Amino acid sequence: MAGNWKMYKTVQQTIEFFQRFNPLVNGVHKCDVVIFPPFVNIPAAQCAAAGTEIKVGGQDVHWGKEGAYTGEISAGMLAAAGCEWVLVGHSERRLYGFETDADVLKKTQSSLEAGLTPVVCVGEKLEERKAGKTEQILVEQFAGGLAGLTEEQFSKVVIAYEPVWAIGTGHTATPDIAADAHRLIRSEVQKRFGSDAAEAVRILYGGSVKPDNVERLMLEQDLDGALVGGASLDAESFSKIVHAA
Ligand code: PEP
Repeated sequence: MAGNWKMYKTVQQTIEFFQRFNPLVNGVHKCDVVIFPPFVNIPAAQCAAAGTEIKVGGQDVHWGKEGAYTGEISAGMLAAAGCEWVLVGHSERRLYGFETDADVLKKTQSSLEAGLTPVVCVGEKLEERKAGKTEQILVEQFAGGLAGLTEEQFSKVVIAYEPVWAIGTGHTATPDIAADAHRLIRSEVQKRFGSDAAEAVRILYGGSVKPDNVERLMLEQDLDGALVGGASLDAESFSKIVHAA
């Protein structure tokens, strides 16, 4: 269960979140719990999560190791800051950062080289769904962003299916819609990396997941977890989501 904080919370608010959140998820051992705070809050989040099983990750990463890339953060820097996870290809990065599938592949590769677990996001826009292009978009995003990995690399990747029309809109995908997309992604994995990889890969659902809809979503066999934006900002609400896992 992953919480993407986007551009929310200061250092102080980060500390306050963990003070409330840690005891609420104490004793949860059956799933990974990861928070993706803004970069500047990572040290505070690491410190506040110390001694718990909660992990901290970066919301984005540059594909280079180091260099003249003003404003960017490398995978090695995230790893050195104690991160084990990183989001790659979030739709907001694709939209505002003009990220392509080729960028997603490079970022995923550099994350893996640094020992991070990338959560690679894919998902169709509303107009693409309405035009009946969901399958085509997911296949293209998989082909461009993930199929170029080796089997060994792919075994360390987590995928997040995030229909763009469901992110921050309150319009969660129905469990059936989500499950169809997850099955499609899993079949692409099976074609490229084989049946074992398709069975093993964790595919998270993201898009307006809330405490009151998460349980029904998680009943779907092909949904292995959730990537949560808005509802991860509140300790009580995110802890309820974690418990639903
Ligand atoms: C997200 O940011 O990845 C996300 C799914 O946001 P929300 O839960 O707010 O829709």
